Amino acid sequence: MPSAVASAREILVRLHDVMASRTAAQAKLNAVVNIVGEAINSEVCSIYLLREGVLELYATRGLSQEAVHVTKLALGEGLVGTIAEFVEVLNLDEATSHPNFVHNPETGEERFHSFAGVPIIRRERAVGVLAIQHVDQRRYDDVEIEALQTVAMVLSELIANADLVDASAAASMRPQSTAAARIPGLKLVEGMASGCAVYHQPRVTIEHTVAEDTEAERHRVYAAFDKMREQIERIASQAEFGGGGEHEEVLETYKMFAYDEGWSRRINEAIDSGLTAEAAIERVQQRTRARMRQIDDPLLADRMHDLEDLSNRLLRIVSGQMGTAAQGGLKQDTILIARNLGPAELLEYDRRRLKGVILEEGSLTAHVTIVARAMGVPVLGRVKGVRRAIAEGDMLLLDVTAEANVFARPSPAIEEAFETKLQMRQKRRAAFAALKNELPVTKDGHRVTVMVNAGLRDDVAALDVTGADGIGLFRTEFQFLVSATLPAKAQQQRLYKDVLDAAGDRPVIFRTVDIGGDKALPYLVKDDAEEEENPAMGWRALRLALDRDGLMKVQARALLEASAGRTLNVMFPMVSEPWEYDEARALFETQREWMRGRGKKLPVEIRYGAMLEVPALAEMLDLLLPKLDFLSIGTNDLTQFLFAADRANPKLAERYDWLSPAILRFLARVQAPVAAAGKPLAVCGEMGGRPLEAMALIGLGIDRLSITPAAVGPIKAMVRSLNRAALMTKMQALLIESPRDMRGALSAWAAENGVELA
Ligand code: PEP
Ligand code: MG
Repeated sequence: MPSAVASAREILVRLHDVMASRTAAQAKLNAVVNIVGEAINSEVCSIYLLREGVLELYATRGLSQEAVHVTKLALGEGLVGTIAEFVEVLNLDEATSHPNFVHNPETGEERFHSFAGVPIIRRERAVGVLAIQHVDQRRYDDVEIEALQTVAMVLSELIANADLVDASAAASMRPQSTAAARIPGLKLVEGMASGCAVYHQPRVTIEHTVAEDTEAERHRVYAAFDKMREQIERIASQAEFGGGGEHEEVLETYKMFAYDEGWSRRINEAIDSGLTAEAAIERVQQRTRARMRQIDDPLLADRMHDLEDLSNRLLRIVSGQMGTAAQGGLKQDTILIARNLGPAELLEYDRRRLKGVILEEGSLTAHVTIVARAMGVPVLGRVKGVRRAIAEGDMLLLDVTAEANVFARPSPAIEEAFETKLQMRQKRRAAFAALKNELPVTKDGHRVTVMVNAGLRDDVAALDVTGADGIGLFRTEFQFLVSATLPAKAQQQRLYKDVLDAAGDRPVIFRTVDIGGDKALPYLVKDDAEEEENPAMGWRALRLALDRDGLMKVQARALLEASAGRTLNVMFPMVSEPWEYDEARALFETQREWMRGRGKKLPVEIRYGAMLEVPALAEMLDLLLPKLDFLSIGTNDLTQFLFAADRANPKLAERYDWLSPAILRFLARVQAPVAAAGKPLAVCGEMGGRPLEAMALIGLGIDRLSITPAAVGPIKAMVRSLNRAALMTKMQALLIESPRDMRGALSAWAAENGVELA
């Protein structure tokens, strides 16, 4: 063989005609083994395809034709099975010397000594094997192996187009398209929805592997490289907000790869061999992946991850299959599928068409979950094997209620059952909505305050829909998360004023920005060079705001100006020590004085509050309370710190219960001094939106809840069916007794006492 380029190219030219012909798939495979065999001058050339979980000999030149469709090998069995299982190349001068060698007498292969085989790869998995054999004992050179791998790429296109790969093989590349499936998960945001499956990051499907016009392909790749470099430069320049740090290092690596001569040269060589631009990029990436599998170096693995990322970006650019599904816009009612999402990514989707979300990871109090809850979008989390079970475009029914499942490609019977359940749910919701004008008063006459959590402009509508008492937590950082750049003061002020206008005489508690943790802002690069290992316990919320006080000064002014002539309720997140609260309050006061000095219209009153999310603050309440107007417990963060259990870690999602004695005792210890000081105490974490948990809080004497709007109806219904005095007595006993199954004990009490738990 003169050179890999010439040889691969010569083969591809001939394969091009085969691919374009109208012959049946089997005839095409027969033609391929002959073309490759002749071109490489090999005595044997065979194609094995994965069918029903086994590799079946589909076409051969040189082995006995009787063996075709007869010889079958399991994954991992024999040389062919080994290649497919490990997605690796074998190149042996003596086939029998390999420990996995098995003899298939029906093939008549005993005459042949040397053996080389490459996997036929589709979506990173082997769907078949292309092998050559010779009588001589010889080792194939790199050029020949390269040529085989290029042919294997074309074969992967051929077998996908001809639907030659069956259900079990398809399991690794595309789900069986007809069978209904039920896939369980974890309830993150309750609700029911139906829609079409859309992947957040669609995979680029390579439709054509053999080039019509090599020059044209080369230009496509040049143009894509230019565009990719531009994008990287743009990201880098936008990131220059704070400068330095890990972010910059990553970008440097990206830049290094984007301009890497070796990478673009290899892609060019693959194009020279006759591949399309897409196939060439993928071919080079396959080669890199294969090399990576052999090197066990975590540092290098990270770098390769970056390269993989860039390679996918290049592939998306060249194929025109750009960005996330959000950028393309949703065409119909959609159930979005992702490994995980950031809150900002979720907010990029059209709220009218986004009906549900399926996450392979996800946890109950991660901010993406909170945002979805605020949007009223059901979320099923921790769904395993979703990529194998659901194909883009599949019809899905999402049932995140007492059960938590997604039904893919449902049968008519399942659809009907789903519809019935949905109607019943809607009836129940209508009953809750009817409570809109009823007050949340317990049976023994105690008024509970039920407010809503909000953060987006549209959330304010929830006040009228639910008849809630106000907004107990307005997460101001959501505006920062949805913008591409830092929102200017005027923008912030406009939002706050709109919210206050819509709320009318109902109070709104604005929380100053809580960024950092899992609410990273792409445009805010932290200036401390060290990477944060535990961002939730890191430089976030008030800590960041006090250090970068420019950010908080702007926000303070926006809030003060928006509240001119009204009461401003403001609270600070993640207060850990009283001095942090003092400083934050002083910052607001300074801004107020500044405005007063300039004759600007001021709020009639400012009421200051702190969030209790860091357990240490509970020890300092005697010092803090006299300075506070109100306290709000953020149970999402508080419980992660009490149990030392990351709220965003899916492995811990179900491990600790909000109704555990430790949490309830802690809350009781906080409630007592706050009540004694006569200060309002609320809970604004997700816990308060769950009827049984809310019941427990009321039992502890906490009678202000700020919850997700969808929970207002069920919580009102619970409150109105409750005898608070009896519950408080029970709660005291339970706190002393502290049964391991506190949840069980509380549920039993609720059932005995007719408490309505939706
Ligand atoms: C909390 O931590 O409970 C809270 C309400 O704040 P966030 O969920 O926004 O961190
Ligand atoms: Mg919090």
